[in-house]
Amino acid sequence: MPTTPAAEVRIQQPRHRSTPHANNRPLQQRGGKDRAVLQKGLKENFADVQVSIVDCPDLTKEPFTFPVKGICGKTRIADVGGVPYLLPLVNQKKVYDLNKIAKEIQLPGAFILGAGAGPFQTLGFNSEFMPVIQTESEHKPPVNGSYFARVNPADGGCLLEKYSEKYHDFGFALLANLFASEGQPGKVIEVQAKRRTGKLNFVTCMRQTLEKHYGDKPVGMGGTFVIQKGKVKTHIMPAEFSSCPLNSDEEVNKWLRFYEMKAPLVCLPVFVSRDPGFDLRLEHTHCFSHHGEGGHYHYDTTPDTVEYLGYFSPAEFLYRIDQPKKTHSFGRD
Ligand SMILES: [Zn+2]
Repeated sequence: MPTTPAAEVRIQQPRHRSTPHANNRPLQQRGGKDRAVLQKGLKENFADVQVSIVDCPDLTKEPFTFPVKGICGKTRIADVGGVPYLLPLVNQKKVYDLNKIAKEIQLPGAFILGAGAGPFQTLGFNSEFMPVIQTESEHKPPVNGSYFARVNPADGGCLLEKYSEKYHDFGFALLANLFASEGQPGKVIEVQAKRRTGKLNFVTCMRQTLEKHYGDKPVGMGGTFVIQKGKVKTHIMPAEFSSCPLNSDEEVNKWLRFYEMKAPLVCLPVFVSRDPGFDLRLEHTHCFSHHGEGGHYHYDTTPDTVEYLGYFSPAEFLYRIDQPKKTHSFGRD
């Protein structure tokens, strides 16, 4: 728990040396205040909105099937690596291990979810990664409930696989936006939003609403939401990294493969209202399903019928791990 307001806290030096440049800072504490803020903000973008404080549903149940019951306890957001390790050209040295990341954020045994790049170091190809991991601790062996989505070499379609069916490590690569907690049950913010009337996607709407309210004090959230009805635009990175440099959003979009995927999709959102100067990716959401589809969420393509139901937990701390020294602004969509 932060003991002083965010504005007064200096950036702490990393305690572990395994990943360079790990920075952390506490985020604003705000309890149930976000409920009313989100209710009002989402209403500007969706026809039916209901935001409540509820007990977290049992996330070991369908459709979530997580290895833990909840997303509460010692919550943290970690932004690891970054797009500059993927673009313009890949940096294949940038590989990570989620058990080490859990120690880096001072929460060994953490339950971690989010969005990142798949572990090419194990898979042998590039993919979208949906981390859902109970990391190792003294008391429990680690559980990898992650998924990865790749472009099907046969027909260019989506191939979604459960990582632990063939692989036994806890790796990922290049970049990830992670939400960590003790995986405990507890109070969470339930957000129900139906029929989109505005231009913003579900996550951007929540993030911008919080940014408007909190201004230059960064706040962050993570958790899970289900797209219960409708379809969404997603992408999957090609299996091969680009051999020619990709230097703009336009070039990146020609390289990516885009899809329209159908509900129900389980999403793993992580977002921060504003960048306090760590070169953060402010929002990043990957999704998986039990019908073979999954990828990087952009927005729903069926505003008249779309239905979202989510559970969110505010993050107490933000960690920046292995921040790229050289950066740029494309490839963040
Ligand atoms: Zn992504």
